Amino acid sequence: MHPTMNTSASCPKLEHFIQRLNGLLEQQLPEPQLLPNVRDLMGELVAQDNWLDPSFAVPHPQYYQQYLLHADPNDRFSVVSFVWGPGQSTPIHDHTVWGVIGMLRGAEDCQSYALDTHGIPQPIGPAERLTPGQTACVSPTIGDIHQVMNAHADQVSISIHVYGANIGKTHRHVFTPAGEVKSFVSGYANAG
Ligand code: FE
Repeated sequence: MHPTMNTSASCPKLEHFIQRLNGLLEQQLPEPQLLPNVRDLMGELVAQDNWLDPSFAVPHPQYYQQYLLHADPNDRFSVVSFVWGPGQSTPIHDHTVWGVIGMLRGAEDCQSYALDTHGIPQPIGPAERLTPGQTACVSPTIGDIHQVMNAHADQVSISIHVYGANIGKTHRHVFTPAGEVKSFVSGYANAG
């Protein structure tokens, strides 16, 4: 049996995703096998944009918003809606845990980075655009540093993220173009 679930944004599609993810995590697969499976589940979750509660889709005029949809009671994973106002973007940042992103609404552009020998973030390849239904992965083993932006200057975009920890409580890093590293904890827009 699964432990009691702490679901703040219950809906059948999200419940199904969480149940399937619980099943996967119980198998204790190594990350190279886990991530493609999580990606398949995420692909199903974002295949249709008809389930996200509107209260978790509200943009902020100044800042991109991260709403907690579900926190695993044992902090093995968390599910977040990432809501972009027009033209909003993240700094260059890492996650320190695996993450799978699924595009629900609108589009986002993602630029991957790696630190050079001086600690300066250098772009890896071209920026990639995620459109509805598409998915992407991050992790310290496959590439964990990126900068993400709303691809639209005139509309809200929303992606759904699942991470292998309680991401709002996870200590991680922002990287400046000059090579400065700053620690941060993102928190959630819907938590005190
Ligand atoms: Fe990210």
